[in-house]
Amino acid sequence: MEKTVQTKEMVRITTPDEMRRFIRKQKEKGKTIGFVPTMGFLHEGHLSLFRKAAETSDCVVASIFVNPTQFNDRDDYLAYPHDLMRDAHLAEEAGVQALFLPEEKTVYPNGNEVTVTIHAKTDVLCGKSRPGHFNGVATVLAKLFNIIRPDSVYFGMKDAQQAAIVSSMIQAFHFPIRLITCPIVREPDGLAMSSRNARLNPAERKEAAVLSRGLQAGLAAIKAGERDFDAIVQSVRSYYTVHLKLGEVEYIDVLNYPELKRRGASLSGRFIIACAVRYSHARLIDNVTGTAESVSEPG
Ligand code: AMP
Repeated sequence: MEKTVQTKEMVRITTPDEMRRFIRKQKEKGKTIGFVPTMGFLHEGHLSLFRKAAETSDCVVASIFVNPTQFNDRDDYLAYPHDLMRDAHLAEEAGVQALFLPEEKTVYPNGNEVTVTIHAKTDVLCGKSRPGHFNGVATVLAKLFNIIRPDSVYFGMKDAQQAAIVSSMIQAFHFPIRLITCPIVREPDGLAMSSRNARLNPAERKEAAVLSRGLQAGLAAIKAGERDFDAIVQSVRSYYTVHLKLGEVEYIDVLNYPELKRRGASLSGRFIIACAVRYSHARLIDNVTGTAESVSEPG
């Protein structure tokens, strides 16, 4: 296998016992562990997290596990794209030292007998439209955090609601872990990179650049002085009404971040403008975050 960055071979690990042995050895050598959980079919968004982890942790562990409990649509789960050979190569090049590839039965030895339930930040955005999704995410992460015992974990702002919920979970369960969030990596036309983009047909792919442009319209409204939450939502909605022909808007919302509530009657402080749009075989999400008092340039 061709290598450009690393001098050491990446190891592939499939069992929790083997993973624990690997981690113990690293910790004996005084190394800090950076962990990046993924569902695979890697793209530049994932690789940016691996690179950030390689810069800020001594040893980078990544997992690829398509977690069944976070899918509320069985067809979406079954259709989730895979390419392990390619993923392993990309992960190694981006600085991953150990790739954890557990099987479902080792991650869920007792099925769903014991799970994590999230009681806040889940009644909005994706939590509202995907009931149980974040419980599945939190459950699998609690397991992975316990197996890998990372010093730092790396999450993308592409899934900003997930990052906010993981932050709450780390606090609530006293995981001795630092959460590092990384910016959204986009295609040249602005489309946020996602494994699900592979399921867009060519016309949908072309149109999908509209998602981020609509969010920019919301940012422009804030920049122009708009502070009414619903009016900002409306500026995004109006953009989509004109420019989205194939995609169907699932939600558009403006909330304070990371609490994911509207803090007052008008917008102040840190915020998120978020959307979800459904295409024939892919549901896309995107968002922009900022601080109302310092939004200067849209983007
Ligand atoms: P996934 O494989 O979709 O579960 O994503 C794994 C991690 O990669 C999550 O922390 C995502 O937020 C992050 N991620 C996915 N897409 C992007 C992107 N376009 N930019 C930055 N991070 C991303």
